[in-house]
Amino acid sequence: MAVSQQVFLRDAMRRLNLTRDIFAARIGVKRRALDTWLLPEASQEFRGMPEVVQRFVTEIVENELLLAKYAQSAQSGPLRDRIATNGKHQLLSVEQFTRESVEELFSVADIMQPIARRQKVSRVLEGAVLGNLFFEASTRTRVSFGAAFCRLGGSVCDTTGFTFSSMAKGESIYDTSRVMSGYVDAMVIRHPEQGSVAEFARATNIPVVNGGDGAGEHPSQALLDLYTILTEFSRLGKLLDGAHIAVTGDLKYGRTVHSLVKLLALYRGLKFTLISPPGLEMPAEIIEQIARQGKHVIEQYHSLEEGLKDADVIYATRVQKERFSDEQLEGYTADFQVSKEVVDRCCAPDAIVLHPLPRDSREGAHDLSTDLNHDPRLGIFRQADNGIPVRMAIFAVLLGVENLVQHSMRDVTWSPPSHIGPEDAVFHGMY
Ligand code: ASP
Repeated sequence: MAVSQQVFLRDAMRRLNLTRDIFAARIGVKRRALDTWLLPEASQEFRGMPEVVQRFVTEIVENELLLAKYAQSAQSGPLRDRIATNGKHQLLSVEQFTRESVEELFSVADIMQPIARRQKVSRVLEGAVLGNLFFEASTRTRVSFGAAFCRLGGSVCDTTGFTFSSMAKGESIYDTSRVMSGYVDAMVIRHPEQGSVAEFARATNIPVVNGGDGAGEHPSQALLDLYTILTEFSRLGKLLDGAHIAVTGDLKYGRTVHSLVKLLALYRGLKFTLISPPGLEMPAEIIEQIARQGKHVIEQYHSLEEGLKDADVIYATRVQKERFSDEQLEGYTADFQVSKEVVDRCCAPDAIVLHPLPRDSREGAHDLSTDLNHDPRLGIFRQADNGIPVRMAIFAVLLGVENLVQHSMRDVTWSPPSHIGPEDAVFHGMY
């Protein structure tokens, strides 16, 4: 098999749009057996999948694809051409994706998992240099983009904040972008102004990735959020179509939720409950964009309890005080805090709680509470960890090396820990 059995099976389930239970029934095996084939190889419970199953699954998927081909003209060409924007291999907005192309990107992310879990190394980007240009605070996005590039064999140069870049001397975005293009092979840019990353992108032909442009978009975060939801749903035996997604917090300035709801809208029959304090509602144009598609229910609330009722996913966000202009609000009141007690009371035991992070843990911030920290429903660290395989997939696709990764992998020479954090039941074995 060209890919690992886990990648193969996850891809098959996604293409067939089947839950684990239904997929197991369709191929005539016990759900428990399927679960053991999907575990990471390092897990004690892992089992090899019989070859006859592989042949059978391949046949089912191929038949399905053949039918789909007659129903709609098949997509063709490299993924980076299909998601290109203005003819360039750049990632500026989630609007560049269709459901098919986003799932194709996730198959590449699945291939990256053994590298992200420190079992394998690859050098497909050897010699390539990433320019990480962050003009706003960042921990996860900056480090995980850098680490993702390094784990593919590339190296990283970065500049942080305005103070230490020539923008402090009045240099324009155009000049900065053009100059950087002569030094590096791809750029990730974070900037406080909406639309500024697109301006950087216009001045260069090298791949540019939007790492967050003001209150605009944060496409790589939304991609890893969606990847997390699909992975967690697979473990829980749920499908995304028809799910209830509750998004809470600062929906006005939170760029992660702007990107996420647009991306989720590629699925079918979702119920969105948009819960925010008065004055921090989701921008009307985004709501209208989703409503126009006519396939989702959208409800707006100012009460956490009402909006969370029976949610499958609770996506909490931080108050983006740094973007406030004339808002009176200081922060969340206690009744906006997503706590264990509220989640227990409002949602089923298989709900998942996500947050793009950072959460504000200071006294009185009332952001996502820490009392869910050891609760398996809290997916925030698995979500943050997924930043690596998803961002590796973004680079591999934009630089056109995604088909080289599988054969380039070698075993690591060091001994990584099997549990990277105290709350990892199995290091991502909740697969
Ligand atoms: N890290 C995310 C962002 O850069 C979320 C946040 O800052 O609240 O948008």
